[in-house]
Parts: sequence; C-alpha cells; structure tokens
Amino acid sequence: MSKISVLGLGAMGSALAATLLRNGHSVTVWNRTPARAEPLAAAGARIAASPADAMADADLTILCVVDYAAARAVLEEAEGALAGRDLVNLTNGTPRDAQELADWVAAKGAAYLDGGIMAIPPMIGEAGALILYSGSTALFERHKPSLLALAEGRFLGEDPGRAALYDLALLSGMYGLFSGFLHAGALVTSSGAGMSDFLTLLLPWLEAMSGTLPDLAGKIDSGLHDRNVVSNLAMQAIALENIVRASREQNVAPDFINAMRRLTAMRVDQGHGGDDISGVIELIRRLE
Ligand code: NDP
Repeated sequence: MSKISVLGLGAMGSALAATLLRNGHSVTVWNRTPARAEPLAAAGARIAASPADAMADADLTILCVVDYAAARAVLEEAEGALAGRDLVNLTNGTPRDAQELADWVAAKGAAYLDGGIMAIPPMIGEAGALILYSGSTALFERHKPSLLALAEGRFLGEDPGRAALYDLALLSGMYGLFSGFLHAGALVTSSGAGMSDFLTLLLPWLEAMSGTLPDLAGKIDSGLHDRNVVSNLAMQAIALENIVRASREQNVAPDFINAMRRLTAMRVDQGHGGDDISGVIELIRRLE
C-alpha cells in the first residue's frame, strides 16, 4: 500500500482522502484551515504541518483545491519538496491552466498528472464515478491501483490539458441539458402545470433525442452536414423562432434558447437551410 498525501480537504479532497484510508493506504493530509483535517485524523490519517511536510515522504501527492490560483499557492509552499515527487492535480480548471501548472511543476523536478473528476464527493470510491487523467503516462501507470480505487480512470494521453478540456466539454453537455430542462420548466409551469408531472414526458423525449447523437457526431467528424437529413435546419429554425415567440407570450425569458435560435438562423441565412443541425458547429468553433 502506498503512502499518499492529500492537499486540500474541502468536500472533494476529504472524500478522496477518506476513500484512500478505507482502501488501506497510509494517508497524510493537509488543509489551509487545519480544523477540516480532524475527521480524517480520527479515521487514521496523519496531519501534516505544511504542504512540504505532507509531500516529504509521499509516494503520491493528490492536490484538490478550489481553483488553480489556490493550487499554485499550495505548491509554492511546497516548492522545496517537489523534486522527484509524483503529483496528481484534481483541481478543476482550463487546459491552459493545466499546461502552465504542468510546466511549472516539471521545472521543479516532479512528475505531473492532471485530472478532471466527473463525480460528486459521495460517489468517490463507488460505481459510476469517473476521473479523466492526462499528463505523465509513467505516473499514471505507477499509481494506477490507488487511482482506480477512487473512481474509474480514463487516461487521455500525455497532453496535460486534455483531461481539463474533456472535463469541461462533458460539463458543457450537462449544462446544455440543464438549460433545456430549465427553459422547458419555465414554459410548462407558466401554464400552472407541475414540473414533476411534465418530467414523465420530458425524460423519454430526451432519451429518444439522444439516439440522434451518433448520427450527428458522424456528420461533425466528416463535415458532411447535408447527408441523410431528416430534419433540415430551415424547418428547425422556424421551431426555434416559435419557441422564442411562445416564451415571450408566456412571459418567459428566452435567454437559454435564443442563442440556439440566433446561430441556427445565421446558418440558414448562409445558405445551409438543407443541412442537419450538426452544421451549427461550424459557426461556433470558428468564433474568436
Ligand atoms: P470546497 O469549496 O469544498 O473546498 C475548497 C478547498 O480549497 C478547501 O480545502 C479550501 O481550503 C481550499 N482552498 C481555497 N483557496 C485556497 C488557497 N488560496 N490556498 C489553499 N487552499 C485553498 O471545494 P471542493 O472540495 O468541492 O472542490 C475542490 C475541487 O474539486 C474543485 O476544483 C472542484 O471543481 C472539484 N470538483 C468538485 C466537485 C464537487 O461536487 N464538490 C465535483 C467535481 C470536481 P480551506 O478549507 O482552508 O478554505
């Protein structure tokens, strides 16, 4: 069993440390506000006096704080202890954040693996939790058993920013779902109906529509948005226009849906009314 240090004991860091303890690892913890370490000490963790103390003899250090500014602040306190260490950073940030931190850590002589946690704290160590990793392959391989005890792990290659990119892309899908859910809710409840009842219609509808995604993904990959189109963009632009008009009639703010309406109309105006909705991506991935 490895000696693992966890820096950052918020909701997520505490869940990571508790899971490692349950799995029989020797766990050292550190948090800026020391009181948050006490429940973990009661469960068998050693409390370190500083980030450098925590890293000093750890086989693996896991960092999980609120953002990259905090991550950098913690690591600067441990600067002298970094050489030769293995660091996994599970703090949420952008691909550039990850690349910059990876470069800084490499300059101090440590191996770096970035990670994106696709789970909430109670899911850590349970089925259904996923962590995306990218960065040092050797580090991932060295600590695979410990990392896989936290969650299913998907290694995405040596680019340290890749895990953050995929993490944020998955969250984008989630927030798209939530914004559609919220707009649908505002429309339906404007008539006095209940959202829970409406969900019996919405859920199977979303499941049915998610069945169209493999076809749309193929169109995005090939760039051939005009093949086998069953619901053309010109028709969909009218539906989106109707949703925006209905929202105004029902006194519902059209903000969520208006972005989609605007981009779809723009694509139709550019002469792509016969294409599938996948073609809208050509407008957004070229915006500066
Ligand atoms: P919390 O708000 O519960 O905890 C934040 C942690 O960051 C605390 O340990 C806090 O220390 C520390 N911190 C903040 N600023 C500093 C600083 N300047 N120097 C040192 N430490 C600092 O957040 P979570 O634990 O929930 O989230 C941690 C990371 O995990 C985030 O990047 C988040 O996006 C990610 N994550 C969280 C999920 C969740 O559902 N909670 C899900 C997936 C990812 P202190 O106690 O001293 O304030």
